[in-house]
Amino acid sequence: MTNSISGKTGIDWAAFAAELAPVDTISEPVLVKKRSRDFFWYSPILNAQLRRSFGDLVALPKSASEMAHCLKTAHAHDAPVVLRGGGTGNYGQAVPLEGGLIIETTAMNRILEIRDGHVTTQAGANIQAVNAALHAQGQELAIFPSTQDIATIGGFVAGGSSGIGSVAQGMLRDPGNILSLRAMSVTDDPQERLFKGDDVNQIHHAWGMNGVITEVTLRTVPHRDRIGCMATFDTYRQAYAAGFALARAPDIAPRLVSTVDARICEYFPRLTGHIRPEKHLLVSLVPAEDMAAFRNLIANRGGHVDLAMSGAELKAANLPHVFAFSYNHTTLQVLKADRGATYLQVGCPVPPDPDAIARLRPQLGSDVWQHHEYSLIDGQIVTFDLPIVWFSTRDRLHEIEAIYESNGFTVYDAHTFMVEGGGLKNADYRHLAWKKRMDPKGLLNPGKSREWARVKDMSPEEIEAMIAD
Ligand SMILES: Cc1cc2nc3c(=O)[nH]c(=O)nc-3n(C[C@H](O)[C@H](O)[C@H](O)COP(=O)(O)OP(=O)(O)OC[C@H]3O[C@@H](n4cnc5c(N)ncnc54)[C@H](O)[C@@H]3O)c2cc1C
Repeated sequence: MTNSISGKTGIDWAAFAAELAPVDTISEPVLVKKRSRDFFWYSPILNAQLRRSFGDLVALPKSASEMAHCLKTAHAHDAPVVLRGGGTGNYGQAVPLEGGLIIETTAMNRILEIRDGHVTTQAGANIQAVNAALHAQGQELAIFPSTQDIATIGGFVAGGSSGIGSVAQGMLRDPGNILSLRAMSVTDDPQERLFKGDDVNQIHHAWGMNGVITEVTLRTVPHRDRIGCMATFDTYRQAYAAGFALARAPDIAPRLVSTVDARICEYFPRLTGHIRPEKHLLVSLVPAEDMAAFRNLIANRGGHVDLAMSGAELKAANLPHVFAFSYNHTTLQVLKADRGATYLQVGCPVPPDPDAIARLRPQLGSDVWQHHEYSLIDGQIVTFDLPIVWFSTRDRLHEIEAIYESNGFTVYDAHTFMVEGGGLKNADYRHLAWKKRMDPKGLLNPGKSREWARVKDMSPEEIEAMIAD
């Protein structure tokens, strides 16, 4: 490092790195810049705002005590700290807005315990590796993101919300999905605190602002032989209605149900020859023993099963897993070919209404191509639209959002790096009271909470009292 004093923080990072020893660090600017990015470039708005924000130093602790040493040192120097797992978040959650220390957790990757119905891992454990270890014992994670090959358990719990399995097990925040977690404070003497039951939601989806997750216990479910299925339909209405029927079918237990507009499927070159062209797609993961019922359902709904393969068969055919066409991977397939695309996140009316979708489609215009994910919330099947939007201007994006809203849909802002924007929607002061307890100086992921500036000088109890207001 030549000039080791950062303009943003005024900290001498070479001296800081020396103080962190024996913790491994990376100071090479190209590598630090690489680890300062996530998938925020999905949004042209976030891309313009975040692409020049970089950290100063990366630390790679291998144990909870090395993590504590990093946090104590950051606390002593008032250094901003951003946690990083696999860096697959897509709102710039892991981008250091104020420079500072990036702590990458991937060296804290041990699987600590597998029991019937749950697994405990260190925060940096890779999700695919956890699932592989679980498969060997006849289990799998109840919910996991489509990014499992890169993402970490801690990053998913801190930054994610749902995924494969949500159609049966609900959202990550639902009771029993995150059984417990340990989070460390950023103080002079960092302490690990155990969160259980509903309290896990004070740390979940707080983007690493409310404490550093060191260990997580997640729910597991029995691992069954599952078939990756692609069925096609003449109209999007038919595909959407079949998706709803499949998600609540009494005799089929899918782990994934997604529907994709035919125009998006043209961006899936690896499926050429495997799915009928110019048809709307239903992607699902179905237990092998439920395949006869699945085929019946698709036929009764006017569809055609184009592809039905086990994981091993997909691999042998050099095809990706079916969830490479679901959740935000659908968007990624389009972005690989054309960076002019972006997306929205929209909650659909409950219960799912194929007629409401059919009415909406012509209003949206040719620059909006729909894609729905099916999930279980409060015992009911709901759907989320993650449409591809061909970006022209911010005004047009707002116009599209307004069309959704005027039809009774709820838009969750996908183009903000404020935690109160997309996921939380409203300020959650209980959340911020925990931030005050775990990170009294406000060093964790600074600049990502709209409300923190308002409450940072209050005590946790004063912040909590605001909930009643
Ligand atoms: C193609 C694609 C598909 C996706 N599919 C899904 C999906 O199916 N479901 C879903 O929910 N999300 C999905 N996402 C979003 C993202 O992948 C998930 O949130 C993912 O699990 C994040 O894990 P990660 O290890 O990459 O976290 P990172 O991106 O590294 O971090 C995410 C956030 O968590 C914080 N963090 C990381 N580790 C810790 C820790 N130990 N303690 C405290 N804070 C921490 C970071 O500071 C950051 O704010 C997708 C994104 C992409 C680009």
